[in-house]
Amino acid sequence: MKQVYLDTYGCQMNVADTDRMELLLFHSGYIRTGEVKDADLVLINTCSIREKAEQKIYSLARNLKPLKEANPDLILGFTGCLAQQEGERFLEKLPFVDLVIGPDGVEHIVRVVDEVKNKKVSVVRTQFDTDISYKIPELSGETPLNPGSTTFVNIIKGCDKFCTFCVVPFTRGREKSREAEEIEEEVRLLVSRGAREVVLLGQNVNAYGKRGLKRSVPFHELLYRIASIPGLKRLRFTTSHPKDFTRECILAYRDIDILVNHLHLPVQSGNNRILNEMRRMHTIEEYISIIEELKTVVPDMGLSTDIIVGYPGESESEFEDTLALMSKIKFNNSYMFSYSPRPNTPAQDFPDSVPPSVKSARLQRTIELQKKLTLEQGKLFLGQVVDVLVERESYKPGADFRGRNAQYWSVNFTGDRKKISIGDMVKVVVEDATGHALRGRAI
Ligand code: SF4
Repeated sequence: MKQVYLDTYGCQMNVADTDRMELLLFHSGYIRTGEVKDADLVLINTCSIREKAEQKIYSLARNLKPLKEANPDLILGFTGCLAQQEGERFLEKLPFVDLVIGPDGVEHIVRVVDEVKNKKVSVVRTQFDTDISYKIPELSGETPLNPGSTTFVNIIKGCDKFCTFCVVPFTRGREKSREAEEIEEEVRLLVSRGAREVVLLGQNVNAYGKRGLKRSVPFHELLYRIASIPGLKRLRFTTSHPKDFTRECILAYRDIDILVNHLHLPVQSGNNRILNEMRRMHTIEEYISIIEELKTVVPDMGLSTDIIVGYPGESESEFEDTLALMSKIKFNNSYMFSYSPRPNTPAQDFPDSVPPSVKSARLQRTIELQKKLTLEQGKLFLGQVVDVLVERESYKPGADFRGRNAQYWSVNFTGDRKKISIGDMVKVVVEDATGHALRGRAI
């Protein structure tokens, strides 16, 4: 069999896209290798959400040039959001590259690779599919599908929100949902192959099902349907938008046992003027009200968020509002970034008025605060017994296994290797909390 080397940058959508390409390529005679030098085909699935991610990909591409020069038959391709954003420009900058495919081209990967091979040309495919819903066609025959205990399932792609700082609507196109029946079918298959936890995935999952389907299916209905699939032990979803977070979704946390007590709800800023400038379409008061309502339903809800500091025009006191919000909500975890202008986005034309040194100082303060909050939140688990879904053996000295509890904390623990297997749900008493991880022992 020919060998394909796949590397992924960016979000979980990209991880899922890479997995899909691996499957499609397997059916066309490629097996995945971990060694880039052994590969007949190298595909780098790229991200363009931040300027830094973009620079990293270009530098990686240049590092791969000698490999291509040494082996002209090697097919070198770039897929994903940066590929979509740059298109032909990518080839102009890096003419040794053979293929450039945006996220909507995942299903066409085999055809594009064949075209490169047969016609000996470079191919760029960045057009969006025009369908109003989206399908992940079933593959016939045996697949090497081995999902592990936790796996991702795409339910919606694209985004219609057009937050002023974000490239996603330009790289992944408009929102398109998959038919609920198709999603249920995939979850059933994954469970039959050993998956115990499913993470429903999309740039904006709670916008699921609003249009394009044979019958519109609200997101909370999909949650109930997936949760009823026998053998599934845990259900998560990411990422949500506060504007689409309905009361029914809050109640789903109360009513669905396997829907875990964790929510990743991006807030981006703690200040209403900045939120308005970002076109987030909600206020801080509305965000807090969702959290408070959730906490009345599920008091031990674990929360995480995304934060951008140094957005154009952000004053010191507006930034301080973000710190105040973080302290009020007590997020377990935050994905924190300093603002960088992205191509095609409205905010790229705003004067980027916050100097880099100020952005980086604000980012540092945000990180320090989050570290403190994470430690405080982790310590609340000391002495508690938590349910841990075992994901793998632990790399940590003195621990046997690693898994996650409901609130998405990573838990390293000791336990009997003869009795515990990957995919088991194990009760663990928490004995230590260090940074983002808990430590304990199986009981
Ligand atoms: S909701 Fe906003 S930040 Fe999230 S993907 Fe859509 S445009 Fe980007």
